[in-house]
Amino acid sequence: MPNRKTPSDLPFLDQTSRRDFLKMAGGAALTLVIASVVSSPVSVSAASETASKAAGKRSLAASSAVAEVPIIWIQAGSCSGCSVSFLNTLNPKVQNIVLDELVPGVHVTLQFHQTLMAGQGDIAMEAMYRAEDLYKGKFILVVEGSFSTKDDGIYCRLGEKDGQEVTALEHLLRLSSKAMAVVAIGACATFGGIPAAKPNPTGCKGVREILRENDINTPVINTPGCPVHPDWVVGTLAMALVEGLDKIEVDEFARPKRFYGTLIHDNCPRRKYYDVGQFATKLSDPYCLYALGCKGPMTHADCPTRLWNSGTNWCIGCNSPCIGCTDPSYPDGTSPIYEKFSNANDVVTYVGLGLGGAAVAGILLHAAGSAAAGRFSGEEKKGGKK
Ligand code: SF4
Ligand code: SF4
Repeated sequence: MPNRKTPSDLPFLDQTSRRDFLKMAGGAALTLVIASVVSSPVSVSAASETASKAAGKRSLAASSAVAEVPIIWIQAGSCSGCSVSFLNTLNPKVQNIVLDELVPGVHVTLQFHQTLMAGQGDIAMEAMYRAEDLYKGKFILVVEGSFSTKDDGIYCRLGEKDGQEVTALEHLLRLSSKAMAVVAIGACATFGGIPAAKPNPTGCKGVREILRENDINTPVINTPGCPVHPDWVVGTLAMALVEGLDKIEVDEFARPKRFYGTLIHDNCPRRKYYDVGQFATKLSDPYCLYALGCKGPMTHADCPTRLWNSGTNWCIGCNSPCIGCTDPSYPDGTSPIYEKFSNANDVVTYVGLGLGGAAVAGILLHAAGSAAAGRFSGEEKKGGKK
């Protein structure tokens, strides 16, 4: 059984207690976040190492008494699972985030979300077009799903303009050029995800790659996951509003280190079995899942401590190997899901994708040690410490 935690036990921001965070961004639905934005304009510059140079400083909050923090949320090639995950946020509840009047005259306003909004067709599209001009340079673009780039992106279209169909790629290029910042959520929007898996016939790509190719310098923060954890989205938005995007520490893949700064493997409750070579041979075994394909040794996220479904459980806690869903190489580089990660070619793939040297070294050492000990050759027994 996983260590079940109460909501008050759950970590959120490592320098902010859960209670403080709930005050800041939770039950009051970002009230204090927005209040801080109003009282202290948030400078927004780079979220990533390259974007930081290009973005410069932009002011989010109005100096007047009324501030709107508009969000335009678009979905391209995706299963909408990240929206569903976001909707499942409990602390704060999604209605607190998107509907509450925060303080008089201050709102976080979800201007467009093609799945959640009541409007349809031209009315919905007009809402987007109106918002992107009204809040030019001041809105946050949240992007879900990856973008078909082959044949000018015709394989993924979203609505019309003047009677002509518009590709999702066109929307992304236009909106990201006008946005203050882009938050890419989920494996697909960040690194291409499943739509970009081999053979990728529609040329799907993640947001940051496309923006770079098109010389669009709007800062991008990546919050991968399949789906993304709601805390990773809400927390990133909250940090951006409170601290400014330029204060969010990100890794080389533009992932906030607060959420993606640790290896699954380093905080896994089954690590004690890994360290003594005690491996599960079937999913119901309580031992380390490495031999059954766990990608925890090369995957960065705080799932073991944050847990999912409001602290109920997580993948390994319910006997599933980590499939590496927050890794830039997912899913091609983390497949086959249920095969152990001990192949030298796999390691080379990960090195090429920027996996930390310590993790690779650990895998190589472990693989070598396992081979020498005869593990992974069908010799493992239940809890079969050698
Ligand atoms: S390999 Fe997977 S199951 Fe084993 S200790 Fe690492 S993260 Fe946990
Ligand atoms: S444990 Fe692994 S597969 Fe599961 S959500 Fe976290 S990163 Fe993704």
